[in-house]
Amino acid sequence: MMSDNSLHVYSALDYAHTGMCVVDNEYNVIFWNKRLVEWTLITKEKIACKNITLFCPALKEKRNTIRLNEIFKGGPPVIFSSQIHKHLFPAPLANGEFRIQHVTVSAIPSQDGTHHHALFAVEDVTELTLRMSELDKARHEAEAANRSKSDFLANMSHEIRTPMNGILGMCHILMTSGLTEDQINYACMIDRSAKTLLNIINDILDFSKIEAGKMNLIPIPFDLRRIVEDVVQMLSFASEKKGLRLFFEYPEAIERFFIADDGRVRQILINIVNNAVKFTEKGSVSIHVSSTPSDNGTELINLIVKDTGIGIAEEIQPILFKKFNQVDSSSTRKFQGTGLGLAISRQFTRLMGGEITLKSQLGCGSEFTIQLQLPKANPDQIKQLIDVENNPIPFEGKTESFDVRVLLAEDNQINQAVASHILEQLHCQVEVVENGQEAVDILQLKHFDIVFMDCQMPVLDGYSATRTIRDFEQSINQHIPIIAMTAHAIEGDREKCIDSGMDDYISKPIDIHKLLLIMKKYCSHRKKHYSVMVQPSVLIADDDMVTLTELEQTITNLFPNSTIKKASDGVEACMLLGNIRPDIFICDILIPNMDGEAVISYMRRNIQFEKTKIIVITALPGTDPTVNRVQRMGVTEVVFKPIENVKFNEILLNAVKSKNSEPHIDLNDPILPSELSIDYRGLVESSLHGIGIFQNNKFTFSNASLSKIFNKTVDSILNVNISDLYANVVETDITKLEKLLKTKSTKQSTTERDIIQFKSTHHDSVFIDMYSCIIQHKNNIARLVLTTDVSDWMNNKNHNFSNKIVSNDKQLVPKIINQRTEQPKITLHDIPDSIVAVDDLIERLGADEQFATELLIKFSETLPNELNTLQTALDKHECSKIEITAHRIKGAARNLSICGLMETMDVIEHAGRALNITTISEVFSEAKSQADAFISIIKKLPSP
Ligand code: ADP
Repeated sequence: MMSDNSLHVYSALDYAHTGMCVVDNEYNVIFWNKRLVEWTLITKEKIACKNITLFCPALKEKRNTIRLNEIFKGGPPVIFSSQIHKHLFPAPLANGEFRIQHVTVSAIPSQDGTHHHALFAVEDVTELTLRMSELDKARHEAEAANRSKSDFLANMSHEIRTPMNGILGMCHILMTSGLTEDQINYACMIDRSAKTLLNIINDILDFSKIEAGKMNLIPIPFDLRRIVEDVVQMLSFASEKKGLRLFFEYPEAIERFFIADDGRVRQILINIVNNAVKFTEKGSVSIHVSSTPSDNGTELINLIVKDTGIGIAEEIQPILFKKFNQVDSSSTRKFQGTGLGLAISRQFTRLMGGEITLKSQLGCGSEFTIQLQLPKANPDQIKQLIDVENNPIPFEGKTESFDVRVLLAEDNQINQAVASHILEQLHCQVEVVENGQEAVDILQLKHFDIVFMDCQMPVLDGYSATRTIRDFEQSINQHIPIIAMTAHAIEGDREKCIDSGMDDYISKPIDIHKLLLIMKKYCSHRKKHYSVMVQPSVLIADDDMVTLTELEQTITNLFPNSTIKKASDGVEACMLLGNIRPDIFICDILIPNMDGEAVISYMRRNIQFEKTKIIVITALPGTDPTVNRVQRMGVTEVVFKPIENVKFNEILLNAVKSKNSEPHIDLNDPILPSELSIDYRGLVESSLHGIGIFQNNKFTFSNASLSKIFNKTVDSILNVNISDLYANVVETDITKLEKLLKTKSTKQSTTERDIIQFKSTHHDSVFIDMYSCIIQHKNNIARLVLTTDVSDWMNNKNHNFSNKIVSNDKQLVPKIINQRTEQPKITLHDIPDSIVAVDDLIERLGADEQFATELLIKFSETLPNELNTLQTALDKHECSKIEITAHRIKGAARNLSICGLMETMDVIEHAGRALNITTISEVFSEAKSQADAFISIIKKLPSP
């Protein structure tokens, strides 16, 4: 019950705008003011002397009783904040919700002074809370908008910096391209404007990054004195121009080596000193360094920048560090700037736990103090820094020379041109790749001293490429300097680059001085033998000397230690293939004597060249059936002329590491004579060996020698059916022939070989060594038939013939069985040089005398037929046939070093082209005697 006395004491509380009540230590209500009556609708009478927890159950909660008990003991006031205890008192609003209450409880002494009561002061903060939450929401929205603005700016700056690189770089190239004086002035103006624009962009970028919370610092050991010196050196030109004295004091006793983000320290100092120079017309600008050591291995560094310039009015000083603030912001300002420099400098200093302060008076100069608490570098770090410093290289960029191999990974062509140009000015050997993957690939193959890596590239970006490179370096215990070279400025560019394993960072637009510093830092000690070198052996076959030389050059550039062999026609290529197993075979399709298709076909059927990568180059259109056929033979790549260098490099690199594609034809198949180019078909047609294709129970191709065996003309053999063919074979051998011509065959027995006896009216019998194999011809299964007349050998010598398939090691057709008559034997070296330049030939064949003998014999056997063809053509005055035949003989003679014959055939070929029959007739007799001399001497060679 509320006593009168109490009423008297507490009645004043009825006038309070705040809800108030007094509760004794047993939670009984002693007083309940009017405000609470209004709010809770609980009358004084109803609640008097009642336990308050009946009406305010939350006060029964333990966490609350603990606090209230302290009050009853006379403890300090407690607050039941509106955020946690929103509705402590049952105070409904008109809308049915409860008032949000802020409750303060204080201890007041009881009237007898023996104990304490609790005085509750209840404030209605409903309105206030709602207002605050609205404000909070608005603040969040504003912050989000600001962040997205900063994000936008950061992104935009990146977009702007990329083309700026192009502008500045191209301008630089332009300036060194022999311009007139006027033009140089214009170019300088572009350069100056572009640089100013770039500074603005950089400032905006830095600021927006700080605001977007994306600016992380990368602390590394650095030389503070060096930074001070550099800044003075950088600004000395500007200060000298104004007649200012610019100097610094860095007392010997002060530590030089600290750990911090050196780039940012440099940037802060440049901003402040640059301003000092800018706003000082006469007198001096000085930097004074002082320090106070602390116990924890750090030092408090003061960099005091003092000028005798225009000074800054006191009232303006506090706002100067806010962004976009300048003392004179009228549009006709005398001094350029964005008003961001000081703001950025302060932000950076604060990010490093420091501060920038200013002392200035209008008209009396300014003194900016940059205060930084920096950890000291340890002795190892100091030693490393001193080592770098001890290798000074003079600063003048143009006279610098770095004999280093630089890999530049950059996808933008303009940027490629700019960076290459600058690097080439420093006498570096620059190689450009277009994406990270190419960089990774080439580094595994070639030695480079340094890599400049763009970050944003197609296929594989610079970060991932660097990670891959660092991974493979671990296994070979190497480390190539990789320098990020990027306009990428969004998510903490520098830190991201370093995180991915890059050593340093150079931002675009690239400037020769920045690049020079990097080169000095990383290339003063050249690391040799960096990469695992690949030394591929390469065979190039092309009759065009220019292409041949170009290809050779390209390969040497890419693989300096490669072995390159060159062939000017297919036969020469095949000869070389007798001795080398190239890693890469580069071949033109249309080459003389034996075309590229035939050579490839041969290689693809020969297990020894299984691993050889074949790159076909051709001027034929992609739609040409030959190209299609070659592609199906499992070549690595078909390159169309004109050859594009960058692309070709890529193909070569791929060829070194890739696997061969699977050929779409059976590799046991032989060449397809009817589909070969004219040169090769000529050889087939004039061959002493029978060559034919048997398909659908008929020959669909036959040369003259084959048709002769069956006693038919070429035309008729193509139309007769199989029974007519058997008619000429001795009966016992018909089954052998059937087997040889059977097109249904399992893969294991695609090749057949046997000696078949033919009936003949002229001789007792004709023995034919017949070889056949399954081929795919015009999309159908067929058999290629190759024959050699071995009658002499069978009749005279009666050798045992082993029915064994001869390996195709050094020949395109089955080995020819010696059919020559007994002759006194000579050696290769007995052949006069006037007939065959034997030494030359042997050298070219890699000292394989046996192979040389085989080839000479083979040619001596085909030569009479060739001469017959020539004679017939001459008789008929068929000049084009004369030209082709002479060209063919010439090619073979050249390959075999049969020099005299080669020269005469050359004359005949040219005379054929000039339709000059008289010359042909004159020279032909000489050719015949040369051929006779050749054939007769070759006959004396022992069969190999
Ligand atoms: P700005 O890019 O305009 O130089 P800053 O943030 O670096 O931007 O400087 C803001 C302004 O502070 C300047 O425009 C100039 O008015 C004033 N200020 C800065 N340094 C000095 C100085 N050493 N002497 C006089 N005024 C200065």
